[in-house]
Amino acid sequence: EEIIKLQGVSQHYTLGGSTVKALDEVDLGIISGELTALIGPSGSGKSTLLNVTGGLIKPTMGDVTIKESKMTDLSENGMCLFRRDNIGFIFQSFNLNPTLTALENVMMPLIYARVASHKRKDMASHALKLVGLDDRKDHKPGELSGGQQQRVSIARALVNNPEIVLCDEPTGNLDSDTGREILELITRMNRESKVTFIIVTHDINVANICDRIVTLKDGKIMKDERKGKNE
Ligand code: ADP
Ligand code: ADP
Repeated sequence: EEIIKLQGVSQHYTLGGSTVKALDEVDLGIISGELTALIGPSGSGKSTLLNVTGGLIKPTMGDVTIKESKMTDLSENGMCLFRRDNIGFIFQSFNLNPTLTALENVMMPLIYARVASHKRKDMASHALKLVGLDDRKDHKPGELSGGQQQRVSIARALVNNPEIVLCDEPTGNLDSDTGREILELITRMNRESKVTFIIVTHDINVANICDRIVTLKDGKIMKDERKGKNE
């Protein structure tokens, strides 16, 4: 039932003779369909944990298993392919290509995944419709508000139907009303499509809507709380 499993995961950085343990023997299991917030002070290892889980970094030690595949045993290229087919990413800074329209941005992962060209447009249009942007398909990021840009990036993360979506401060650059809209969208995707989300956040409003709150400190899990059914 655990879609993501981290076992004894450590990530060490050595700079000028001193070593930082960004992650220190972390064990974490995430159940399919869970909406998890990852919180903790700056420098506690949140982004590193997200990047290790998403296969953007291979950890110094330990195993990352996703959907029964041990990612830490894959080659760089194998990890890349696995990521492409199974994991979506949403960043604080949206990371959209400013020269492409919303539709073209959302089609990018499909081109990369070699989806047949006649299908791409339909899939991307469908994803944009899901996030409520069907009337903004031909706009470029510079012609969209921050909240709309984040919606495009959510559509891009979901266009391939990944089972897992990893978010790094998805509301960090948005005002509170817009942040709330983005949160509602994430919650809806989680409930309706059973997508498993891990969300790194400083935002208490984000943490409050999650099923589970994992707190990191100094590269270790300090607290791990699941919400009671009555809350
Ligand atoms: P958070 O996301 O909680 O702010 P990070 O995962 O970004 O924490 O960082 C955890 C620790 O690892 C910090 O001490 C940070 O300085 C260090 N760190 C992160 N990335 C690197 C890197 N590429 N090189 C060296 N140190 C790093
Ligand atoms: P912070 O968590 O400190 O606010 P960011 O969220 O901007 O910083 O980035 C966290 C980490 O993720 C950084 O180390 C950054 O290099 C990395 N990162 C950001 N965007 C991408 C991306 N598109 N692909 C890979 N890594 C990224």
